[in-house]
Amino acid sequence: MYKQIELKYSFNALEPSIDELTMITHYTKHHATYTANFNAALEKTPEFTGKSIEEIFTNLSEVSDEALKAALTNNGGGYYNHNLYFSILSPDGGGKPDGELAKQIEKDFGDYETLKEKLSASAAARFGSGWAWLSANKNGYLTVTSSPNQDNPLMESRGKWTPILGIDVWEHAYYLKYKNLRIDYVKAFFDILDWKEVAKNYAAATAK
Ligand code: MN
Repeated sequence: MYKQIELKYSFNALEPSIDELTMITHYTKHHATYTANFNAALEKTPEFTGKSIEEIFTNLSEVSDEALKAALTNNGGGYYNHNLYFSILSPDGGGKPDGELAKQIEKDFGDYETLKEKLSASAAARFGSGWAWLSANKNGYLTVTSSPNQDNPLMESRGKWTPILGIDVWEHAYYLKYKNLRIDYVKAFFDILDWKEVAKNYAAATAK
């Protein structure tokens, strides 16, 4: 039984970057529904019992029932992607990465500002609903990509790339406050982004 992560902050703690009603709706409705529907789909796929979420994502092609495969992809992604998203936000966020992650950002992108521009451009360019990602592979390299819907780099690379930072660019993540101005939401996202959590995710992804 997969569970939503517990939030380490209150629903209004990320204001003004993300408003309280968006957080309540996002966590208690959207994320809760993805999680419930993922667990329901897993009840119909006993072959995945006891498997890690990474194993499930990399073996989705083995599910022959197309409707069930879609349910696992959309709701499994919705479950996992939001656990990542909510875990890297903090009222004490902002600033810049340091340590090993900062060193690798310099190697792969030149500097932090260039990475931020790439992530923002990726989030802006994703047509319709989806995500922008910073991902790491087991050799420590970093890459910026985007995915449609609730897909993610684990699914798309069959486990080679692990997302360590995700920007939700579905309208439900920002529309109540920002309306059509997705880029303003993306700018505000960086003010509440907890790079310490991203660095933990980086260390975990590269230790695999
Ligand atoms: Mn969302």
